[in-house]
Amino acid sequence: MTSVGIQSSLLQPPLHDYDNTVKPGSAHDQMDPTWQPPLAPTQDSAEEDFDSKCDRWEHSAIFLDSVFWIPAKKTLLVLQYLGMCSNSLRTFFNHQRTLLHPVIERVWKEEQRMLLDEIRFTEEPLILGGDGRADTPGHNAKFGSYTLMELSTSKVVHVELVQSNEVKNSNAMEKEGLTRSVHFLREEEMHIPTIVTDRHLQIQKWIREEMPDTVHHYDVWHVAKGLRKKMEALVKEKDCSIVGRWIRSICNHLYWAAASTPDGNGDVIRDKWLSVVNHIQNTHYGHGKHFPSCLHPDLGQDD
Ligand SMILES: [Zn+2]
Repeated sequence: MTSVGIQSSLLQPPLHDYDNTVKPGSAHDQMDPTWQPPLAPTQDSAEEDFDSKCDRWEHSAIFLDSVFWIPAKKTLLVLQYLGMCSNSLRTFFNHQRTLLHPVIERVWKEEQRMLLDEIRFTEEPLILGGDGRADTPGHNAKFGSYTLMELSTSKVVHVELVQSNEVKNSNAMEKEGLTRSVHFLREEEMHIPTIVTDRHLQIQKWIREEMPDTVHHYDVWHVAKGLRKKMEALVKEKDCSIVGRWIRSICNHLYWAAASTPDGNGDVIRDKWLSVVNHIQNTHYGHGKHFPSCLHPDLGQDD
């Protein structure tokens, strides 16, 4: 509701903007519980003309319409019940499509251009983190976005939007998003020495085959997420409830094993990680060749 209200005020719509499909009117109408805002806006000729000029923005517009559809409908319904003047649903989406979306696209393109120029200027090796997200959880998502972030500055360098019917199923959207993102950066003549992603099998295979000069790391956040799920399942087993008290510490240990090894030495990270088995049994030495003992001070008998 908040976002819809802010957008409406920013766009400064006319005060009285009821159209023929909305009941203005009497107190009886405003209290009518059967009243519904108009259904999906039909595109008029101006919209069609605009859309034809903005094909590459079309998917984003559809995606945003689907995201805003329910909140916008509910907000306008509340305003109608309160007897307040407001946009019709059709006008709301007209404003969104013809004013808001082009502004967002222009600002984003300018920002992206500046960011890419900055990266070229600094000549620092590019370290990218990539991940996809879907519009709904599960395996029935209609839209997926793939985002690449420059990890030394935490700035997003590119976003791709994929619709599920462009690929064979919704699971394939993530790889398609990555593919398009990498092609975009290659067209910009950007070299990618390092990329960090989740352990999605299609992603692993594609990077191995299509980006042979790029070092591929796995994101510890995703590894920790999988580990946490397994431990939460274990807690529900008979006589295993005590595991629940260790989940947070064990996940923190996994992050520490990676973060405390800046050179990314896999042998050291592995031995640091495996030391957790000894540590939780109050044994703090004799772990492994590359990490023989814990780094913390003596914990005393009670710990
Ligand atoms: Zn220890």
